[in-house]
Formats: sequence, C-alpha cells, structure tokens
Amino acid sequence: MTIHGSCFCGEVKYKLEGKLRDARSCHCSMCRKAFSAQASAYAQVAPEEFSWLSGEQSLTSYESNNGAGLLFCSLCGSTLCGTTDGRIHGVTLGCVDGEPEIELGMHIFVGSKASWEMIPDGAPQYEAWPPNNTEEN
Ligand SMILES: [Zn+2]
Ligand SMILES: [Zn+2]
Repeated sequence: MTIHGSCFCGEVKYKLEGKLRDARSCHCSMCRKAFSAQASAYAQVAPEEFSWLSGEQSLTSYESNNGAGLLFCSLCGSTLCGTTDGRIHGVTLGCVDGEPEIELGMHIFVGSKASWEMIPDGAPQYEAWPPNNTEEN
C-alpha cells in the first residue's frame, strides 16, 4: 500500500510504500513540548519505504542530545517525522493524509501525563515504556 502525508501548509509531502507499524501515543513531558499537544501520536516506518515528494528543502530539524530528532516544516511548523541519528524511523499520525489503516495500539508514559489530560479507553496504558519495547531509542 502507499500512504501519503503532508504538513499543514502543504509545502512538504511524503509517501510511504508500505505500512505504518506500532502506532502509539506518548504522554511524557518532552512529547507535550515537542508536539505542542497533550501527547504525541506516531507510528514506525521502514526507512527504505519512505520518500519525500516535495518541500524537502523547507524541512528543518531539532535533535535532542540522545540522538532523537524531529523533522518539521519551517513554514507552518507541522511535525512530520521522528529520526534517530538523522535517520527517519517514524511519522506523526496527524500529518498522514487519508486512512492510515492503523489505530493507536498503546499509550505510553501515562505516569507523566498532564494533570489536565483525559486519556480515552480502548488501548492499553503503560506507566512508562511498554513491556518488550521495540522502539529504537
Ligand atoms: Zn508546512
Ligand atoms: Zn514521549
């Protein structure tokens, strides 16, 4: 399958020749800042299945000191991808266009969620990392 994604202003577009995997929402204090929201919502991708269609020159990035980074549109501020040591490993679900054919499978770092957040039922919640975590961190 082919999944498309784009930022708020439409400058940056990408496609994924494959599937989204392991969708999750992280409620830690860093994700709140990075995503300007109550939590992040993202899924893992295979880097070789991912390609930019337009706007790559308008991307900017921010890397924290453990090698984990984010790519975002410098015009509108949408966060599009997560990186590890500069390599794309995930996409934000908010920037996926159309049906991503995946649902959030878990809520992580619920132990540090904001006091004002109400997490909906429907997916398992973990205080921190889930058991058998597969995320590259
Ligand atoms: Zn944009
Ligand atoms: Zn987080």
